[in-house]
Amino acid sequence: MARRTSRTPRSRTVPASRGAVTADSPCPCGLNAPYGECCGRLHTGTATAPTPEALMRSRYTAFAVLDAPYLLRTWAPATRPERLDLDPGTRWTGLEILETTDGSAFHTTGTVTFRAHFREAGRGGELLERSRFERHEGAWVYVDGTFPG
Ligand SMILES: [Zn+2]
Repeated sequence: MARRTSRTPRSRTVPASRGAVTADSPCPCGLNAPYGECCGRLHTGTATAPTPEALMRSRYTAFAVLDAPYLLRTWAPATRPERLDLDPGTRWTGLEILETTDGSAFHTTGTVTFRAHFREAGRGGELLERSRFERHEGAWVYVDGTFPG
């Protein structure tokens, strides 16, 4: 998941939602685990993502908790932006993993197709993306995404 291009103008008045998620909160990625034992372990560097799907979930959660450094750290150097401004006015409300390909211990690439739900300026929206991942120095990183429609 990269920056989402927005059709609505950015709101500058919505307060940041950082802090709404604690270690004991349900993980925003939707797995049945507290944040601190799920994507939070990847964000702190305690664990690394074993699969592209796990990395995808942790990156979705990073958008939800506004952890831009984690997003940059898990981006392939070739496609990584210099900086990333996350919009605190966007509230990520759900993630559905629709399909994964490759990405096992025997693969060096993999894809994850997902639908992410968000609310922005009081309106709901969704992002459908097929993300590509590859191994970089042994760790899965995000390469880029296409938009199946
Ligand atoms: Zn999680």
